[in-house]
This record gives sequence, C-alpha cells and structure tokens, in this order.
Amino acid sequence: MSEYFALKKFFKALNTCNTIESVENALRTLSQKDVSLNIFDESIGVEPSGTEYLNLLNSDLNMFDKFIQGEHVVIGDKNIFPILLKGQLVGCIEIPVSDVDELYNFEIAAQIVALKIDNLRLTSTISKNLEFHNAMKNIAKIIESQYELNYIIPLIGEILDTFVENHLIYIFLKQNGKMKLVWPAACLDDKITKNVPKYTKLKEFSFSKNKKTGYFPLVSENNAIGCIVTKSTLDELSTQELYYIQQLVKQTATTITRAKVYGEILKYATLDALTGFYNRRQLDERVRQEVSQAKRKNTSLCAIMADIDFFKRVNDTYGHATGDLVLKTVAKIMRGQLREYDIAARYGGEEFVILLPSTSVSEAEGVAERLRDAVNSKAIDIEKVNTKNSTKKIRVSISVGISEYDYKSSPKTLVMQADKALYKAKETGRNKVVLFDKDN
Ligand code: GH3
Ligand code: MG
Ligand code: MG
Repeated sequence: MSEYFALKKFFKALNTCNTIESVENALRTLSQKDVSLNIFDESIGVEPSGTEYLNLLNSDLNMFDKFIQGEHVVIGDKNIFPILLKGQLVGCIEIPVSDVDELYNFEIAAQIVALKIDNLRLTSTISKNLEFHNAMKNIAKIIESQYELNYIIPLIGEILDTFVENHLIYIFLKQNGKMKLVWPAACLDDKITKNVPKYTKLKEFSFSKNKKTGYFPLVSENNAIGCIVTKSTLDELSTQELYYIQQLVKQTATTITRAKVYGEILKYATLDALTGFYNRRQLDERVRQEVSQAKRKNTSLCAIMADIDFFKRVNDTYGHATGDLVLKTVAKIMRGQLREYDIAARYGGEEFVILLPSTSVSEAEGVAERLRDAVNSKAIDIEKVNTKNSTKKIRVSISVGISEYDYKSSPKTLVMQADKALYKAKETGRNKVVLFDKDN
C-alpha cells in the first residue's frame, strides 16, 4: 500500500515539473535511496549524462536487448531503468539495488518520465516557435513604414542570428547585376562569395557538398534578387531552424520587392511616412527655395540639425517598434515648438533638419534650446510597443547644430555647416546646442 501512496505522491510532484532537474527531484519521492536521472539525448536541451552506461550495455547484447525492450538491468550495485520515447532510448533512471516492490514503482515511473520528457521537449519547441512568430509579426509591423533597405536588412540579419544557433549568417543582394554582400560588413570565406551566383541560379535552397553551408535564394517574381547564406560552425541546421530560415527568406524577398516599389513611389512623395515631416529630397528643394527667398528679401535664414542621442541603444534595449514610436514622438514634440512656416524634414534615420526663415542666429539658438529642452523633458510612454522588457516610460535627448546662411556660399553649405556643429555637440557631451563656427 505504501508503494501506491508513493506513486501517487510522485505523480503529483511530476505535474508541476518543468525542468529535467525537477523531474529528478520528483523521482526522489519514490525512494529513500539515492535516485538519479540521466539523459543521453542532447536534443532535449540538457547536458547528456550517464552515457557510460550506454557503453557498458553495448558490450553485452543480451542485456542491451532486455533494456531496449523496457526492462531494467543491474549494472554494478545499481538498478538501471530505461527511458524510452517511441522506441528510442533517451535516458535512464539509476537507483541502488533494493527491494522488488520499489522496482515495480520505478518501472512505471520510467514510462511516465518518458512522456514527461516528450512534453518538456514539445513545450520548449512551442515557446521558441511562439517567440519566432512574435519576432516575425514585429518585423512585419516595422517594415510597413520602412523602405530603406539599409535599415531593414540588419533587422532581418539580427533575427536570423537569434533563431539559428551556431551558424554565421550572410545576406547578399543583387546590385547592378552582381550579388553583393550587404550584411554583415564582411565575409571572410571567399568560397561563399564565389558560390553565391551559382547557387542563386536555382530557385530553391541547397547545401554545399559537406552540408555545412546553406544557400537560400531570395526569389521575387521568379527572379533571384539575393541570397541568404548560413554557414555552420558546429552542427547542421535543425528542421526547426530550416523552417525559420525559410519563413524569413520569404519575408525578406517580399520586403525587398516592396521596398523597391515603395522607393519608386516615394520619388514623387514629399512627406516622410513615419514622422509626417518633409523627406530628404523635398528638403533639398526647400533649401534652394528658402535660400533664394532670403537673398531676395535680404533676411537671415538659419538651419538646425538635430540627432537623437544613443538611439541605437533604444532599438537594442526596447525593440525597433519602440524606436519607431520614439522617432514619431520626438518629431511631434519638435513640430509643437515651431512656427507654421518653419520647415521640418527628416534627414535620415534619426536626424532632422529644420529651416528657420527670417530668423537671426540668436533667435535660432533660442529655438534650438527650446527643442532640446522639450524633447528631454518628455517621458515617452512606450508600454504598448516595448517588446523586450517591462519599462513603461523613457526619456531621450537630442544634440543640435545650428548654422546661418552665408550669402557667399552655395545652398548646400547651410545644412553641411549645421551638420558640422551637430558633430561638435555630439563630441562634447550630447544633449546640447552648438552654433557653427567657421574657425573652429
Ligand atoms: P549618437 O548619440 O552618436 O547619435 O548615437 P546613435 O546610437 O543615435 O547613432 P547611430 O548612428 O549609431 O545609430 C542610429 C540608429 O538609428 C541605428 C539605426 O538602426 C536606427 N534607425 C535608423 N532609422 C530608423 C528607423 O526608421 N526606425 C528605427 N527604430 N530605428 C532607426
Ligand atoms: Mg543618433
Ligand atoms: Mg544619426
């Protein structure tokens, strides 16, 4: 009877287990003696142990046969119970030789533990799948408003890096008819660079002869527009990883095609989709207009260039969706500080240019200081988009450079000089305003 209660207690304990270690602890409710659980199979995600038993069993075929049929065997002063999963040996339970009743309990326990291990393995796959699914969802959302490939490609590279273990990842894109490495910065393996054109002729993925390098062509409308390459540093790709890569390859091909179309359309657009500010092309146009206006009216024209400080850290710490929200919010805060006829443009990733017509340098300094202060004072609510941790509000700062149009120089100089001043602001501490000084 006491054996029955012991089993009942074991089942109860097993119910709450979610690690191999806790399963081992649950097994200890079955015996007063020393019990240990060994897992042979690496795919379960724990360090394999007890593999010496495998060698001993292999040297005695009779014993091995018995074991693989589910019966326990005696090795030295230990009883060894097999853990079999769909006929495969995945581990064993070992207890010191003891009485027969307890052995019976362990025979049942070994079968239940096998099921539990299967369950744990599935759970870990599902949770990883869920993470991947979320990452894919996230990336789909981000690229909705993004069309710059040099921003999107690193994102895809980073996701591949996270979900594919023990592999180097390379992304190639076709540019001017040639396959060019676009992520990461370099590929030291010449063979890969050489092989990419050959492998991308195929529309399906394939592996090098030794199976270590995978070539995944990015196909759009039956054309290879690029290639993702995986190079193993240890094992071959798992089925799971292969699935992840295939999903990302599809997503990447679609994204690139869309970005190209989007880019074409944007040639005719004037506003930046994320911030609602003028885009860079439009800014160039407006600079020319404002310069000629200032000349004609003989008024002062100033430019401000602002760049968010440590913005990369925002993306890295809270995710890119948070980065996008911060960009949008900073743009909105700045717009709120400007006059209606000031011209605000998104110059690049997290850089903004503001043209201030009919504005003296000292007035421009006042505006810049107000912008800097307004951005820095605002606690931005990121709760809805933060995918990485539980932080609810963050503050960011901007560095600002100012320049005044010099009638003797070309329109381009105006923005260039604001950029130089901005560089100085970064160099000397950030979260500050610096006025361009041609002597410095
Ligand atoms: P510094 O203070 O020197 O300006 O540092 P920083 O981290 O702000 O500068 P860096 O140029 O190293 O990083 C800019 C980052 O901006 C890198 C890039 O991924 C990110 N970025 C560019 N465009 C976008 C965008 O549209 N959305 C998001 N979320 N991030 C962007
Ligand atoms: Mg920056
Ligand atoms: Mg920048």
